[in-house]
Amino acid sequence: MSYENAASTRMLATHCCLCGRPLVDADSVERGIGPVCMKRLMGDVPAGPDREKVNGLVYEASVALSFGKRDSVVKLAEEIAKLGYVVVAARVVEASLGAPIRIESKGNEYRFVAPFVDGFGSILRRALPGASVRWGGKEDKAWYVSSNARNALWKFCKSAYAGSVIVTDTTVRTIPGI
Ligand SMILES: [Zn+2]
Repeated sequence: MSYENAASTRMLATHCCLCGRPLVDADSVERGIGPVCMKRLMGDVPAGPDREKVNGLVYEASVALSFGKRDSVVKLAEEIAKLGYVVVAARVVEASLGAPIRIESKGNEYRFVAPFVDGFGSILRRALPGASVRWGGKEDKAWYVSSNARNALWKFCKSAYAGSVIVTDTTVRTIPGI
């Protein structure tokens, strides 16, 4: 089992933010920087303790996807996230199931990415009374919700997106129903 396997490379499908070379390894994808640039910037950086394991899980996910086993892909992504490789996990979900719903903590707000529908801002404001809700702009394509709305936001996700996959700062999971 090699992480250089073409299917898992396709699954990660991301590039070094400095030189644009494709990234094929869990540590590189998690950092967004390839081994050559990383060495130039930081010298020798030890591999993450779970790097090989995560590369193996990505390979398994690419095989599961080729058999159309989407549930297995999500379980593997959950495992990858638990090992601390959330960027890798998000890539695996995105390559398999399309862009996931995302909630990330940013200061005193949550950055919230969900499928675009017309009038989403007013839907969100109605669902989150007392929260400040703002659009991050065309480039960002995300909503920002004040962190006091944490519980209401999760409840909204459960009513609107049950069964969809969500990626947070630390986890990948399937959104349960209410
Ligand atoms: Zn590079």
